[in-house]
Order: sequence, then structure tokens, then C-alpha cells
Amino acid sequence: MKKNKTIKYITRTVPALILLFILSCSGNREVTTNELLGHIKYLSSDSLRGRLTGSPGDSLSAVYIKNKLSSYGFIPLTGDGFQRYKVTKKLVPGPDNALSINGRNYTAEKDFSPFEFSSNSALEAEVVFAGYGFNLNNDSLKWDDYKGIDVKGKWVLILRADPESDNTKSPYITFSSDRDKALLAKDMGAAGVLMVSGPIFDPQDTIEAFSSGEYYSVDIPVFRIKREVADAILSKSKNSVAALEKKLNETKKPYPFSTKVTANGKAEILREMASTRNVAMVLPGEDPQLKNEYIILGAHFDHLGMGGPGSGSRALDTIGIHHGADDNASGVAMMLELAEKFAKTKGSHKRSIICLSFSGEEEGLLGSKHFTDDPPIDLSKVNAMINMDMVGRLNKENILQIGGVGTATGLKDLVLANSDTSIIKLSLSEEGYGPSDHSSFYGKNIPVLFYFTGAHMDYHTPTDTWEKINYKGMVEISDLIFKVAKELACENSRLQFKEAGPKAEVNRYPRRRGVTLGIMPDFAGVIKNGLRADFVTPGKPAALGGMKKGDIITAINGRTVNNIQDYMFRMGQLKHGQTISVEVTRDDKKVVLVIQL
Ligand SMILES: [Zn+2]
Ligand SMILES: [Zn+2]
Repeated sequence: MKKNKTIKYITRTVPALILLFILSCSGNREVTTNELLGHIKYLSSDSLRGRLTGSPGDSLSAVYIKNKLSSYGFIPLTGDGFQRYKVTKKLVPGPDNALSINGRNYTAEKDFSPFEFSSNSALEAEVVFAGYGFNLNNDSLKWDDYKGIDVKGKWVLILRADPESDNTKSPYITFSSDRDKALLAKDMGAAGVLMVSGPIFDPQDTIEAFSSGEYYSVDIPVFRIKREVADAILSKSKNSVAALEKKLNETKKPYPFSTKVTANGKAEILREMASTRNVAMVLPGEDPQLKNEYIILGAHFDHLGMGGPGSGSRALDTIGIHHGADDNASGVAMMLELAEKFAKTKGSHKRSIICLSFSGEEEGLLGSKHFTDDPPIDLSKVNAMINMDMVGRLNKENILQIGGVGTATGLKDLVLANSDTSIIKLSLSEEGYGPSDHSSFYGKNIPVLFYFTGAHMDYHTPTDTWEKINYKGMVEISDLIFKVAKELACENSRLQFKEAGPKAEVNRYPRRRGVTLGIMPDFAGVIKNGLRADFVTPGKPAALGGMKKGDIITAINGRTVNNIQDYMFRMGQLKHGQTISVEVTRDDKKVVLVIQL
């Protein structure tokens, strides 16, 4: 009744054309620019405050997505349509951190601090000095800091960095990470590690705050201690950190000894957890047999919140709403519109269509990892996973990137056959592993396709906003994905998975070893204020991320790179498996690349 009255009222007062327009805004079967705009405007609005995983905006986004899918006829894949899980938001030093030497108590966070990868445990034992904590035995490097000393059950005191800390091409760089040294000490039998910076390596000797992200414990207590604390330990043997650093750097020889001093320490790291959830809804297939198999349409909905250090923002000095219109309100909007089109198109889906929207993507594919590690369905019944992440910036050249075309026999041909390349040009890559959630599915032997219109200067900054989206381009891409997905949902024979490049799982628990982009930099430093890539190795991270020979790298993760020293330093802080943004200058234009290490 009420509805009829309203329609009568409208027809009397507004022209029929406008009525048609209003109706088309809500629930048109086709993918329309207006419907896409509606989703993106809401998800990227100030009210959701950047959709940080575990925040109220994250929760509201999930509810919005689930309600939209319900309204199209999707039903919960499991429970109420949400898959809940917990994420580590922050590591913080606990109140019980303690360290005493010769009966003197030191102050936590001022004189010492546990490392993020320390265990939560205590140890009272003798301290043994083990130089740089190396055990190297290869063709060019021989250096064993553990030779001739007994470290079993003891603390080892280790200098941070390496004996050539000023040399950006030091052969020791790859063996100098704090965590690797701690792990090696444990392998050698040590029960705890104390690390100290020598004055040549780090004149300031400040204790850094915890960095964000998850860290895997090395299972023994590991402390960073100030020089004066280490000097107190070394004084009995008439030594000092400065003297030992100088000696080791000059002689390039190990000099291990027992300090005959006992240290009593307790490490405690607290994890601040937050609750979040994926949205998992399904449209049952139309074929009684094939409905037991699935096509997954996926798009993460989380973003960087207000930005700030450790958030992944490239705007390092700005705290502000990171709207994430392209990243990834665009992918969610496209997933929703495709969902509606499948639901309202008879004969479009013999297999069931699952719509999965993930949180936790920006913090390391947490949502998709959670789904694939604890799946509510039999993953072997998934024919393909189609991931949309940043699909809103189809550029003037109309180039759409599609990853994963090598992950099943014939998949590349299927994609090409369903694409009108006179409208959209395709840039295809075979690899199943890439900088977004499809990696988690590829890791479980599921064929994947990853749709991406490329990074841009607004990527991971507060200026990734709704009015910069190419809505017409999104409609064209949606048409293309619909055709591919429809064929995958209806073709009687299933895709045959094929390996295409390394799997995410290889890097699951990374030991930090020098990560590389796979470029040959211009060592001569011809370019000022940047570093030119003189050669880009095919198949390596830089090449896969779109770097070209001659590109001048100007920043990594928003931090400037002016020369090779800056470059080596920035690279030294990165980990395997990490997704980074690299700014380059190409033909006098700034280009941003997203590179998966
Ligand atoms: Zn994204
Ligand atoms: Zn992102």
C-alpha cells in the first residue's frame, strides 16, 4: 500500500524520465555507473574513517556488504554470513620487563627493551660475548663467533649490524639482521640474547619503539640493551663495547669470551588484539550437480584508517582519513554489482557463486589467509577465485592488468576469448602469487585471476577519493569479468590447476635474508635525487610489478631514495613476502608501482 501511494505521488509530481532514473539506481540488473558510485561513495566516506581492520568503520563496511548481498538473494555461506577472527593490532612491552646485572636493576624502555620477536620468558645466567654473532663458512666469508666458547643455557652478548656498517655493499649485510642473529644464537644453544649497538654503527644508541605488524617469536628472551648496560657487563673483563667494536672491525676476526657476569632478565610482550570479520555469502548454483562447486568473487574492504607510521600509508607526515576509494571500495563495488547481475540473470551460474569480502588485507592478507586456513567449504570444490583489488582507475590507455592467467590450463585463452581488446587492452601475467588476497587461494592450489588497473600517485594516501574513479571504465571491466566468471560458473568441465610461480606459503615464516627487487642499479650514481634501474631481471619482483629499464626510483614506501646508499638502507628494512610501493620517474612522469617481494 505504502509503496503504491509513493509511486503515484512521484508519477504525478516528477517527469517519468526521472522516475526511471531513480528506479535504475536501486537494483538494476546491469552494472551501472550510478550503482557503482553509490557503493564507493559510502565505503570511502568520512564516516567510515578509512575502514581500518578492527575499527568501527571496518565493522560497518562488513554489515553494508552483507546486507547488499542479502538484498540480491545471496544467503550466508556459514552462520550469519560473517567469518570472525582476531588480529594482532599492536605489540607493546608488558609491565614485567626486567633486567638486572650485578644486583643493579635497569629501567625498561630506557636502558633496555625486548625485541618484538623475543619470547615471553625469564633467564638468570652467565653472559658470554659472541662478537657479531656470526657463524659464516662459505667461499669468501669465514667467521665463527661461537668457536671455542660454551654458550649452552647462557646469555650471549652480541653487537648489532656488521663490521662494515658504513659499506653499503658489505658482504656481511645479509647476515646482520637482529632476528637472524638471535635465531642462530638459539641454534648454538644460547638461552637468551642481549644485543647492543657499537658507537660506529649507531652513535645515538636510542632504543627504537616497537614496529607494527606480527612477529614470530624466536622462543628465547632477546633484549636490546644500551651501551652503558653492556659496558657494565664488560667492565669485569676490562672491556667496553666501543673497544670491542673497533677491534672486531679492524681485525675482522672473532673474539669470543666469557664475561663471568650473571644477568637476570625477564621479557614480556603483550599483543593487543582486535576482532574483525570476513563477509561470506553464497548464491546457490542453478544446476543440481554443479551447484556443489564454486566460483569465488573476492574483494577486500579494509583500508589504512587514519594512516600514520606502520600503517602502510605513503603519506608519512599526514594523519588523515585514508578513503581508499580505489583501494578497495572499487573492488567491493564491482563484486557487489557482479553479484546482483548473477542473481538476476537466469542461466548465468550452474555452479554456486560465493562472494567473499575480506578484512585484514592491508595488514598482510589476514582475512583471506584465515578463510583458506579455516575454510567453511571444501576448497577442492572451488573452480576459480577471481580477486578485484583496485579496479577503479582504468587509465587513458585503457590498460587492465590481469594476474594469474597461468594458474590453470587454458585459462589465458578463456580470458582472451571473453575480452573485447578493442575496448580494453590487457596486460597479462601468469603468476598466481601477487600483492593481494588471491595469493592465499593460489597457495591452496586454486586457479586465480587478479584484476587490477594499476597503482597511481594517490595510492595509499588520503587523496584516493571517490571522484577520481573512472566509473565508465569500471562498467567495461565488470562486463569483461562477468563473461569470464559466467563461463567458469557454467562450463561443464572444471579448470585444471597449474603451478605458475612460487606460492605464498614458501615465505610464510620468513627468515630475513637480503630481499631484492631484481634490478641492476646504476652504481655510478649518474642521476641525482634518485636511482636508475639499468637492468630489470625478467620474472623478478620489480619486473612483475611493472618496473622498466631506465626507471628512476625516487621512493620506497613513501621514503625518499636519492642514491644507492638510501636504496640499500630501505631495502635492508624490508622482508620477504612484503608488498611495497615504489615511486619511479619514467619519461619525466611520476609512476607508482606495487611490488610483491
Ligand atoms: Zn588493496
Ligand atoms: Zn592497499
